[in-house]
Amino acid sequence: MEPFRFERLAQSGRARVGRLHTPHGSVETPLFMPVGTQGSVKGLLPKDLKAIGSQVLLANTYHLLLRPGPERVRALGGLHGFAGWQGPWLTDSGGFQVMSLGHLRRIDEEGVVFQSHLDGRPLQLTPERSIAVQEALGADIIMAFDECPPYPSSRDYLKASLERTLRWLERSLKAKTRPDQALFGIAQGGTDPELRALSTRETVRFDLPGYAIGGLAVGEPKEAMFPMVALSTELLPEEKPRYLMGVGHPEDLVAAMGLGVDLFDCVYPTRTGRFGSALVPEGRLNLKNARHLEDPRPLEEGCDCYTCQTFSRAYLAHLVRSGEMLGGILLSLHNLRYLHRLTEAAREAIRQGDYGAFARDFAERRFGREVPAWFREALAAGGHW
Ligand SMILES: [Zn+2]
Repeated sequence: MEPFRFERLAQSGRARVGRLHTPHGSVETPLFMPVGTQGSVKGLLPKDLKAIGSQVLLANTYHLLLRPGPERVRALGGLHGFAGWQGPWLTDSGGFQVMSLGHLRRIDEEGVVFQSHLDGRPLQLTPERSIAVQEALGADIIMAFDECPPYPSSRDYLKASLERTLRWLERSLKAKTRPDQALFGIAQGGTDPELRALSTRETVRFDLPGYAIGGLAVGEPKEAMFPMVALSTELLPEEKPRYLMGVGHPEDLVAAMGLGVDLFDCVYPTRTGRFGSALVPEGRLNLKNARHLEDPRPLEEGCDCYTCQTFSRAYLAHLVRSGEMLGGILLSLHNLRYLHRLTEAAREAIRQGDYGAFARDFAERRFGREVPAWFREALAAGGHW
């Protein structure tokens, strides 16, 4: 079994191409991880995910803890055996979802007490419990238990919270027993540069196999978010993978890849697909719009996905209007392929040594003449604009 390892293969400005070796295969970064909340990427077969270039899937500890329970997943072969995806998995710590979905009762030094959103039973999640659950689920990459403070939070709260998250990281590491799983730490600090730097530096002291940038994309403006991403990748070690949690809008990926982020996840491409929208270079097509009803063109000219190769916008608009589940499936398939093609093109541009040309080309189609300042500034900070 191959131990966890990250290699850097090419660099352009601060953007980089890497290879992540895991016990369930090697993958190329930057990459986007589809979210399989319940151990299933909604509407998509594992073989189809493989065909569109998905490399790593993410599953949510909170959901799997409530149902079917970690011991059942372990008994059935862990996520790899249970859920039919033999490639690498990543599980989150459950912390973020306890705080956003569970009926939160209490956060204290010990952990979090909450009520299940399914049946109301009271449960506790601590760093030790989160790691035990993630060991039972068996993902290749597991996450330290952290608190993701809401935006906005007071500076005092952010500071106390990030310090507790550091103590929880230490407990997460102590609780870990499986040598075949890589545990990533999560830096917090909200949008306060000083606290963000403090949290990042202190997290790096643990010398972990990878690091996540947490607590962003939680409602703050992009003008506040991207300087934090730039600061983070400056402070994180070059030789370790960096994961920007919960980010999946194409323009955010392009800006963050330019700053040296390697891993992303978000429900956005599949959720927006189920809601009837398609990601295209110009932004988003809403298939509910009547203008698509007679349009014989594919969603995106030149896209190699099954949806674009087979169906017209008119047919997809018909499915969406009729509430057919195939509509959501076909749009999710295209949307994920769109993000995978975006990261594939980014890797190629980095290998050619010209990520800037790729980013400018993307911006021209996405924004036209009005490229937002946050995007230009992020690219400039990455050495591309
Ligand atoms: Zn397509």
